[in-house]
Amino acid sequence: MDSSAMPVWDLIVIGGGASGMSAAIAYQRACRDARKEPGTVLILEKNDRVGKKILATGNGRCNLSNKDMQFSHFHSHEKSFPSEVLDLVPQKESLIFLEELGILTTAEGNKMFPVSKTSSSVVDAFRFALDDYDISLIEQSSVTEIKKEENFIISTLDEQTYQAKQVIVACGGACAASLGTTGDGYRWLSQLGHRVYAPKPSIVQIVTENAVTKALSGLKLECDLSLIAEDVVVARQFGEVLFADYGLSGPAVFQVSGEVSRRMKKNQLSVPMKVTLQLFDEATLRSLRSEMIRRREAFADRTLDHLLLSILPAKIGNMILKTALHRPLSLHIASLSDADLDAVIRTLRIWSFDVIGTRSLEYAQTTIGGADCSEFDPKTLESKIVSGLYGCGEVLDVDGDCGGYNLQWAFSSGILAGRSAYARAFGGV
Ligand SMILES: Cc1cc2nc3c(=O)[nH]c(=O)nc-3n(C[C@H](O)[C@H](O)[C@H](O)COP(=O)(O)OP(=O)(O)OC[C@H]3O[C@@H](n4cnc5c(N)ncnc54)[C@H](O)[C@@H]3O)c2cc1C
Repeated sequence: MDSSAMPVWDLIVIGGGASGMSAAIAYQRACRDARKEPGTVLILEKNDRVGKKILATGNGRCNLSNKDMQFSHFHSHEKSFPSEVLDLVPQKESLIFLEELGILTTAEGNKMFPVSKTSSSVVDAFRFALDDYDISLIEQSSVTEIKKEENFIISTLDEQTYQAKQVIVACGGACAASLGTTGDGYRWLSQLGHRVYAPKPSIVQIVTENAVTKALSGLKLECDLSLIAEDVVVARQFGEVLFADYGLSGPAVFQVSGEVSRRMKKNQLSVPMKVTLQLFDEATLRSLRSEMIRRREAFADRTLDHLLLSILPAKIGNMILKTALHRPLSLHIASLSDADLDAVIRTLRIWSFDVIGTRSLEYAQTTIGGADCSEFDPKTLESKIVSGLYGCGEVLDVDGDCGGYNLQWAFSSGILAGRSAYARAFGGV
């Protein structure tokens, strides 16, 4: 269609995820607060419904923020960029925003969830708000190109074309492609002159030398995990670790996985890395050594696998013994020297796994990298290269730690982008 004959939307938001829906609502809310007619706002969403990724968050419970809002939980090549945005739309403001949509929150430890502990209720609240705020929505509409002429011209896979005065790119990152996020935004932003840092997976499983993890696949334990790069501890996390065919998974592993990704170039580690697991604290290790000395006498004729009986799940205990002692478990406990017992304690303190890398973006919960934040104004999230163009959420080079930080970023940055688009159109908020 000739672009002069097309309707011109005030704002088109590309992507109906957490950041895109927040942006569209924030724009309309600013109109309402200023007692203006609502703008003409359209969300184009690739999936057959909005918020599919929100449904998957927090194992279906939607861990939407965290009480510990230290800025060190957010990462970007532009170190101060996330905190500048979060200063403008702090957690408190985003929680009020959610509350006004009907999403009340509660905390479990530091992690924050909707009171319903159900992701679908969050998506429902957003959907109703899109109606309330006169936001148009076209689903199954996959954007393929954005061009800037007098207005923005947006083309979709089903050969539709839309025209808008302003555009917010909120199409997410490049992880979990099955939920619609295939890094499309990087291509359009590059075409419009933006630099994009190559996407890497974070909050993802770690691939290790796997003979041991494969043998223990499906078992889990709580322990103190350290991630070590060139003999320096670069991350530590206490929590659950799950053994798997390819390596290690579980919350503690997810939390440190970004540090592995950041040290990978072309799918290879740039420095040698290992994960070590400390299975017991120092005081417990001391009493365990005394217990093993007692067992060496009391259970002298029993086989080695009785040394850690009921102290660890049998399969894990046996693997510790094999790793520490390098001898058949059919031997008698009486055959163990003090040095052998020390070797077992050492392995319980530092059970080491050589890291090969991480699993791919498809398995990750968030994307490291994305559109270079130095090319966006942190006060508005407007592009410094193309006026009237904004970025928010995961498409930007910002990633958060595991624990609600990525949704917090999506909400805060979405609200800021929507509010800024309003301010640019009408002046002031
Ligand atoms: C399994 C899983 C669990 C997670 N759990 C948590 C959690 O508990 N807490 C937390 O804080 N974070 C969690 N995250 C991360 C969090 O969901 C994301 O960081 C956040 O949703 C990003 O918001 P966004 O709006 O930028 O992108 P998204 O929510 O990914 O939304 C982007 C939208 O854009 C659409 N889109 C993409 N390309 C196009 C196109 N070409 N045209 C039109 N539309 C397009 C997509 O279909 C999608 O709906 C999890 C992620 C995953 C995968």
